[in-house]
Amino acid sequence: MSSTKVSRRNFIVKTGFISASVTLFPSLIPVKSFGISPSFNQKIFVSTNFVNGGGKVTIQDEELNIIRISAHDEGEGGWSKIWWHFMVAGINLKDEIILELELGAGANNQLFFSYDQKNWGLTNAGEIKSIDDKDFIVVKHIIRGEKTWFSYDLPYTPEHINAILAEKVKTYPDIKTLDFCKTKKGRQVSAFLLKNTGPDSDFKYGIWLQARAHAFESGSSWVLHELMCWLMSNGTEAKALRSISQIFILPIVDVDSVVEGRTGKNQKPHDHNRGWDKESSFWPEMTESKLQLAQWAKNGKMDLFIDFHGPGNSSHPYFIVPLAKDLSSAKQRQNRLNFFQSLDARPINEMNKLTQSMTQFYFSERVEIKGKENAVKWVNENTTDNVVSLTLEVNMGTPLSTQSGYRAEAIALGEAISKYFINKHHQK
Ligand SMILES: [Zn+2]
Repeated sequence: MSSTKVSRRNFIVKTGFISASVTLFPSLIPVKSFGISPSFNQKIFVSTNFVNGGGKVTIQDEELNIIRISAHDEGEGGWSKIWWHFMVAGINLKDEIILELELGAGANNQLFFSYDQKNWGLTNAGEIKSIDDKDFIVVKHIIRGEKTWFSYDLPYTPEHINAILAEKVKTYPDIKTLDFCKTKKGRQVSAFLLKNTGPDSDFKYGIWLQARAHAFESGSSWVLHELMCWLMSNGTEAKALRSISQIFILPIVDVDSVVEGRTGKNQKPHDHNRGWDKESSFWPEMTESKLQLAQWAKNGKMDLFIDFHGPGNSSHPYFIVPLAKDLSSAKQRQNRLNFFQSLDARPINEMNKLTQSMTQFYFSERVEIKGKENAVKWVNENTTDNVVSLTLEVNMGTPLSTQSGYRAEAIALGEAISKYFINKHHQK
């Protein structure tokens, strides 16, 4: 038994139940078949056979309701082995289930659970135990539903986009749902364009927001989802920002991995946040993004790019950015500084990592590593000399990372973006 292997997300906070009001849809509930069908004598059964279900789930002991979970692996373990999401049924109400989650990168000691795929909560904190020479987080949970879903984090799938965002925009004449592209496997990638075409329009700026280049980072989609809801609202700051800018929103970049319940990160030949330097992109999503970003830049309307990631560092949302000296121009440096000031974002350090919030933003400057050419670097080097291009690590998997927590994070960010452009802190 070791405590040194506990991830950076291992909290000492013992919350019994954190309610996260999340709207999901009956269509996500598997109605036909389960991945593992119950045999005649089998008391309990488990399934990953639904949208976003994933990982390896085995029943270890039917009498004691012990289930073992190993995250889906893109092949290299570590940060390529994170995502899991499954359903369990056949356990008597008020009986205890024991979950043995293989300890790995990003593993939590509290697990997300739901009895209806609508409301999600966090289990009690588990303990790290060594079983059969392997380390596991062992979580005990009292079952209070006929079916229970457990997940690495709050799930967010294309069904959220279709059932909530796409429905909502139908009443907004200035917001279009875009069939952005088709994935390698032929799935639809949906995006949105907010563009004021009314008489009060004074379109000067281009803002590009995308999430989920890494499929396991569901919290990044939640923050962008909530930011889009805020941007569509009637608040003064949201309206003012809409009147001067064109805003593109892509809530899920890697749809295939999300639907298939895979981790996504470090997949072969490279994931969606690598290989941006290659002349011909491996991923259709990347080809389309580069084409459109180049077009926006050509029109002089590429001003802010944010690539939403996670899981963060269990303390605050923060940006991972290149060193200021590595940016392409003095304008980029000045604009980035001005943007961080609008957001009151501060440099991250060991002291502020000890505290936690969803609304105080930090930033971490990093030396760029060859062979890890990502979206942010490509945008810095290939769009405009004034662009502010940022990777945001949203704060996933913490007791604060509920839908309302993600909403608070999104609103703080939206207000700062508005302030930055409205108050003319952005140099063209
Ligand atoms: Zn990521």
